[in-house]
Amino acid sequence: MIKVSDITTYLKCPRMCYFTNKGHDIIIEFSSGYIERIIFKELALTYDSAVWANEKLSFLKTELERISNEVRVIYPAELQSVSDETLNKSIAEISPFLERICTNLSTNSEFYMGEFIEDEPILRSIKFEITGSPDRLVKIGENLIPSIIKTGKMPENGVWQTDRLQLTAYSILVEEKYGYIIEKGFVEYARWGIVRPVVIKRNERRKVLQIKERIKKIHAGFMPEKPDDAPCQYCRFSGICDVKSTLASKFF
Ligand code: SF4
Repeated sequence: MIKVSDITTYLKCPRMCYFTNKGHDIIIEFSSGYIERIIFKELALTYDSAVWANEKLSFLKTELERISNEVRVIYPAELQSVSDETLNKSIAEISPFLERICTNLSTNSEFYMGEFIEDEPILRSIKFEITGSPDRLVKIGENLIPSIIKTGKMPENGVWQTDRLQLTAYSILVEEKYGYIIEKGFVEYARWGIVRPVVIKRNERRKVLQIKERIKKIHAGFMPEKPDDAPCQYCRFSGICDVKSTLASKFF
């Protein structure tokens, strides 16, 4: 099975996909920025309740406090080596965002009118051999719609291309499980409290399936070419990545 996370890794750099498949981990630095992203994700899971609260700001402050007490239980492995001081620093850095989030929440009424059915459901497509977990499934009308929570930067308009493709992959999984067509999904930008709808397009469905086939070849041992725009300066594989590519990979 190809994981949707393999597809997102491939989109960063196909060679990262090769090295992770060989068993090399993408080591995550447990910086305060990483911890902030974890907390923002947990906070975003409460926005569908916060939006209906009379006192949104105090609701979110209470939720942030709850999360600060529970986050070590939810992410035990990720936070094992993180000190209380670093954790508290991350929580303090999130507090100034709460007012802006409150202001923006009510602009997403279509999304929050939905029924939040399940967080992180595990979905599998037997047909396409893809598996993954969208952050949540929202029932709008008769259908369940995938949504992903993003804790990084938000583009000025629309959503990032990688977010579109990730959402398209989840839509394919939802379609196979529930038997209806997903016409759109959602990206939730947690730092802003803004939700953007994404139309699931034919060319992106095609692209997801093409990438899936390329990943299958990588899993079979092909070393893909280094992309010209690969983010090598931030990559932990840079020390092992100068392996000469095969002639076949030039046509890959
Ligand atoms: S070093 Fe560069 S080309 Fe190699 S895996 Fe990392 S980002 Fe990709």
